[in-house]
Amino acid sequence: MIDLRNWIRDVPDFPKPGILFKDITPLLRDPKALEETMDALAAPFRGHGVTTVAGIESRGFIFGSCVARALGAGFVPIRKPGKLPWTRRRNEYILEYGTDALEIHDDALEPDDKVLIVDDVLATGGTACAAAALVRGFHAELVGVSVLIELEFLEPRSKMEGVNVHSLIQY
Ligand code: AMP
Repeated sequence: MIDLRNWIRDVPDFPKPGILFKDITPLLRDPKALEETMDALAAPFRGHGVTTVAGIESRGFIFGSCVARALGAGFVPIRKPGKLPWTRRRNEYILEYGTDALEIHDDALEPDDKVLIVDDVLATGGTACAAAALVRGFHAELVGVSVLIELEFLEPRSKMEGVNVHSLIQY
């Protein structure tokens, strides 16, 4: 097992002063680090009957689609407002650096779906929480949330009680 931290670049004051941005592009361009990341994101959820991976825009699309393939599941995009073309549902939330909203297509999930949410960074947990609310709105089962990086000092799990949260790197 390689130390994935070696492929995460800290960028201070991006996109706003005071934010230490976790840049995953060095990890994405390294075949071995990328493969280990995808395997590790999927591993705890193998055999759980996941039907659908929901990836959060935009870095959650990169990891989410690979995890979907690893689990033999489908992929559903959860996007920023105004990007999805079909009829959709919206959930507003507070971000580490501002407020935002997420949307999902009305026909994205069914009540018998078992859904895994995937993203790159879990910071305050607001984004994952909003995504979880969208999934639950379909009465689908939320199997868990799988992320590369968890910013533990922001206590994202306090917002996610009862959710199976899996992170590969903690800061
Ligand atoms: P949050 O809602 O605070 O948990 O923020 C999570 C979302 O914002 C994820 O989609 C991340 O891609 C992004 N994000 C938040 N904080 C950071 C950070 N320090 N570095 C990189 N991405 C971040």
